[in-house]
Amino acid sequence: MEYNVKSMKAEEFINDAEILDTVKYAEENKNNIELIDKILEKARLRKGLSHREASVLLACDNEEKINEIYDLAEQIKKDFYGNRIVLFAPLYLSNYCVNGCLYCPYHLKNKHIPRKKLTQEEVAKEVIALQDMGHKRLAIEAGEDPVNNPIEYILDCIKTIYSIKHKNGAIRRVNVNIAATTVENYRKLKDAGIGTYILFQETYNKKNYEILHPTGPKHNYDYHTEAMDRAMEGGIDDVGIGVLFGLDNYKYEFAGLLMHAEHLEAVHGVGPHTISVPRVKPADDIDPNEFDNSLSDEMFCKIAACIRIAVPYTGMIISTRETPEVRAKIIRLGVSQISGGSRTSVGGYAEEERPHDTEQFDVSDNRTLDEVVNWLMREDYIPSFCTACYREGRTGDRFMSLCKSGQIQNCCHPNALMTLKEFLIDYASEDTKRIGEAMIEKEIKNIPKEKVQQIVRERLVKIENGDRDFRF
Ligand code: SAM
Repeated sequence: MEYNVKSMKAEEFINDAEILDTVKYAEENKNNIELIDKILEKARLRKGLSHREASVLLACDNEEKINEIYDLAEQIKKDFYGNRIVLFAPLYLSNYCVNGCLYCPYHLKNKHIPRKKLTQEEVAKEVIALQDMGHKRLAIEAGEDPVNNPIEYILDCIKTIYSIKHKNGAIRRVNVNIAATTVENYRKLKDAGIGTYILFQETYNKKNYEILHPTGPKHNYDYHTEAMDRAMEGGIDDVGIGVLFGLDNYKYEFAGLLMHAEHLEAVHGVGPHTISVPRVKPADDIDPNEFDNSLSDEMFCKIAACIRIAVPYTGMIISTRETPEVRAKIIRLGVSQISGGSRTSVGGYAEEERPHDTEQFDVSDNRTLDEVVNWLMREDYIPSFCTACYREGRTGDRFMSLCKSGQIQNCCHPNALMTLKEFLIDYASEDTKRIGEAMIEKEIKNIPKEKVQQIVRERLVKIENGDRDFRF
């Protein structure tokens, strides 16, 4: 098997020998200041880095250079994403699953968790609870089970979610995180109006992948790894990739992740829309210590910084698997989207108290959405509930060109402010409202075009008067 970025075969575009050689090259050059300087110089052009170059930065051992890496990541984040952070919540539809994933409590052999699948009435209840928190963007999650969770069930749920309009609430973007499937099913998801299709690779190491997925359809590494190509063939041009850090060596995963991004760009002309960086967490019968690849918070943050530098146009997502402390640190280095107020159990949002019996993993950030919004603003980030891009047809390469042209500041920035205003009026506590109004006033001035500033001011008044859903 030879490495070939354009191949459609998993083992050629995620090539084991190429990854091992990359990791070796990075290790050999971790103190090669001349090379590191050259790579940093290239990175400053903000056009990204290859997996080899980025792996050298990840391995870099020199404190001064590591600080340069962090500073550059922070600067690139500011240039492309400003101080906006997009908010979303996961919605668990069903924990029925036929796979045997060793790290996930939903695995088939786990007989001591109740199995639950939401009816459409229950989906509606969850959506109302999520709308009442202020959410506009969801990521739906389900185990893999062709009998209990067929594609028709997922499509029904998407329809229900988009149909619910409770008070001023609405879910305007549904991202989908379900198992690898066929081109035909991806086409159906696209036709249902989904935002991003998300699928974590879990690990790029084929040998370990097969051990970690001993049974069920997910055992097939090639089918799983080639899923994003099928999704693109089915017309979905916003795809989200990720690995579950802790399962395998992080250096291997990092190179694999970037090779996957390079492959999508080379074949489809558009890289991944987002990269997620989940870490394995304790759950029902899962003890993360059984996988001895856990990584320190410090290295985790360094990974995020190097991803930011390597793929400047790709959004980065961090979930409530991480503590508020880690989230605070990592957001600064390049994250553009976070979940807030999450419940990872099936039917969790409609319950008064957080249920634990069907939780997919322990949540480490238990704050409410209002508390997360309040915290972000105190850290000088604009919480954004914007969902405009895909609704305006700015997906795939059209989104990327918006990023590259710098027009994002005339578009995403005002959209963030207008959706924040909606949140403040409809859902925020008094304190959040107070901080938010001051933030909007201050941030309007950072919209480059005066004409756009003027339109935003007019629309903010209209939002005060009850209108909703303005967007550029
Ligand atoms: N079932 C779908 C699949 O097979 O891809 C995806 C949905 S699953 C609910 C979402 C993700 O949760 C998985 O891809 C995995 O990376 C992550 N996950 C599973 N167990 C976890 C654990 N114990 N801690 C943290 N994340 C976990």
